[in-house]
Amino acid sequence: MEKDSRIYVAGHTGMVGSALVRKLKQEGFKNLIFRTSSELDLTEQQAVKNFFEEERPDYVFLAAAKVGGIMANNTYRGQFLYENLMIQNNVIHQSYVYGVKKLLFLASSCIYPKMAPQPIKEEYLLTGKLEPTNEPYAIAKIAGLKMCENYNRQYGRDFISVMPTNLYGPNDNYDPETAHVLPALLGKFHEAKEQNKPSVEVWGTGAPKREFLHVDDLAEACLHLMQTYSGNVSVNIGTGEDISIKDLADLIKKTTSYSGEISWDTTKPDGTPRKLLDVALIHSLGWKHSISLKEGIRTVYGERFL
Ligand code: GDP
Repeated sequence: MEKDSRIYVAGHTGMVGSALVRKLKQEGFKNLIFRTSSELDLTEQQAVKNFFEEERPDYVFLAAAKVGGIMANNTYRGQFLYENLMIQNNVIHQSYVYGVKKLLFLASSCIYPKMAPQPIKEEYLLTGKLEPTNEPYAIAKIAGLKMCENYNRQYGRDFISVMPTNLYGPNDNYDPETAHVLPALLGKFHEAKEQNKPSVEVWGTGAPKREFLHVDDLAEACLHLMQTYSGNVSVNIGTGEDISIKDLADLIKKTTSYSGEISWDTTKPDGTPRKLLDVALIHSLGWKHSISLKEGIRTVYGERFL
């Protein structure tokens, strides 16, 4: 990528897209292209075609997607499948039609089999049944990375994809019903402290383990791969370390200085027991995370709530 290359970031208002934009600007890339969802509906084939005809991007970061936590994924099942398939089909296909030099597609660690051995290596994709709560999202994302792989195979393209672990950072979704666990708990503990509530309800048993990566680290990894990696293996991006939901709740309780109790709502689903990524490949490609979970949570809490 040259500093004046035309770079389209799809989904630039979201958590991942906005982190990519911050990173690209920081690195001196000057020719960034965006559209808000009201300017361009990425589920509309003709509109996406017209946009590519007009803007002719050289590089595309495909960070636009319908995303959410365990309840959102499990509730809006049809919408998650439809919208994600439409967005990625349109953007990947028009990138092919209009000769985009390179595209990076954001997949997700939740598309690995529910019972995959841990830590999860890239080669475990499609070796077992998916977690039912996010199967529609996972099926869409698997279709997306297979589009990239097979457009490379059939048309000789340079479309790569990545598998980020659970992410957090600026511009995250904090709606308690649809958010992922980390922002949801930051919001719940902060509100409980402000309102002197005696307890905070945390979902499930606390036993599942998750890995968390600050989105600024993800953006750095994506930029690194865009500049150095080509291939059909969808590269894991994570820290290689995980934490139980119970320990995460304790850490967030401490960060927010909340002094009440934690109560466990076991009527809510646990989801996948564990999803820790094997990060040997990305380490061998020359990238490692730099923001620790403790530091990241402290920063995000301060930025959002203090
Ligand atoms: P997942 O990684 O796809 O399962 O998505 P989430 O980030 O939504 O949930 C991760 C784990 O955190 C699950 O075991 C949830 O039951 C648990 N969890 C505990 N409290 C909450 C909460 O308030 N919101 C969410 N989204 N998850 C919670």
